[in-house]
Amino acid sequence: MKAIRRPIFWFGLAMWVVSFALATLLVQLGAQVMSDVPTAGRQISQSEFIDADAMAGVEGKIKGLQRALDANAQAQEDARFRLQSRTLDYDTQRTGFENWLKTRTATQSEDQNPEVTRRVKALEQLKAAQRDAQAAVNDLVEDKANLDRSLQALRQEGRSLRQAAAVPYQSALKVEVLKVFLIRLALTLPLLLVSVWLIARKRQSAYWPLYRSFIMFSLFAFFVELVPYLPSYGGYVRIAVGIVLVCAAGHYTIKYMARYLSRKKQEEAQPEAEKRKAIPYEAAIKKITQGVCPSCDRQFQLAAGKKSDAAQPPKIDFCVHCGFSLFRKCGSCGERENSFFKFCGSCGVPSTSAQPGQG
Ligand SMILES: [Zn+2]
Ligand SMILES: [Zn+2]
Repeated sequence: MKAIRRPIFWFGLAMWVVSFALATLLVQLGAQVMSDVPTAGRQISQSEFIDADAMAGVEGKIKGLQRALDANAQAQEDARFRLQSRTLDYDTQRTGFENWLKTRTATQSEDQNPEVTRRVKALEQLKAAQRDAQAAVNDLVEDKANLDRSLQALRQEGRSLRQAAAVPYQSALKVEVLKVFLIRLALTLPLLLVSVWLIARKRQSAYWPLYRSFIMFSLFAFFVELVPYLPSYGGYVRIAVGIVLVCAAGHYTIKYMARYLSRKKQEEAQPEAEKRKAIPYEAAIKKITQGVCPSCDRQFQLAAGKKSDAAQPPKIDFCVHCGFSLFRKCGSCGERENSFFKFCGSCGVPSTSAQPGQG
């Protein structure tokens, strides 16, 4: 049984809708503000931290070497072509000479000796030209090897310059991340502080549904706009913040629990008439219907509909834990009624005449 007035229930539901709608609008407003305030920080890249002059020098040298390599390739092509043609010249001349020698042996003419000398000399000249061409090719190949080695050294130098930029880049990045976080903290921390104040001071206010949406908004801002931007420092900060938050939650839960228990103990020590005044009417009706004592919050009976194996639970008029009167008999007609009912459900007589737990 619920004693709460039906419109109050719908009012509560409507206020939740209002709270969520307002919170959504506030979140959108916050997102708008975040996109307009320069919170993104400066985009920095590692290339900004490379020694520009040294890098330009290295790159200029690399370009020069590449041009020299291209020229070398061209020259090698030409030199190999020359070598080929000279080799061909020599081979042709030698074959011709050998054939001529064979015919000469056959005829045996002595007067041809100067001709032999001339031809041998010409052949030697061609051989020397071929050797020169081969030497030119070899020189070019050696040049290319040297150029390649220098190019490799320069590329290594360039890599070192880029690696040297990593350390200043990382530290600049850390500063930038911290800056972004501090800007976001400056924007979200006031919201959180206001929320804490609202929770502490305005929970009983009639305007609580509106304050509630502000709190939802600030929680959203905290988890979406701030937490992902926490500088990690290798994960330490995030874990530390998590530990602090969990410890704070634990601390306040324990404190709340202790306050609740001491309040209950105080209430239980009071006379029953005082206890009745302190308990809200709607909550009392609901709790007794659920089988929970409204005074000590302990269960005195299984709730209706959750009956145990015993077909009929014993009728309990007083709390078995604290002796609080739960049901009583109407002073007029004697029907058993919830002790918080203001009128007898059977005869309609106001319950003021009832005798708590008697009769
Ligand atoms: Zn009790
Ligand atoms: Zn009655």
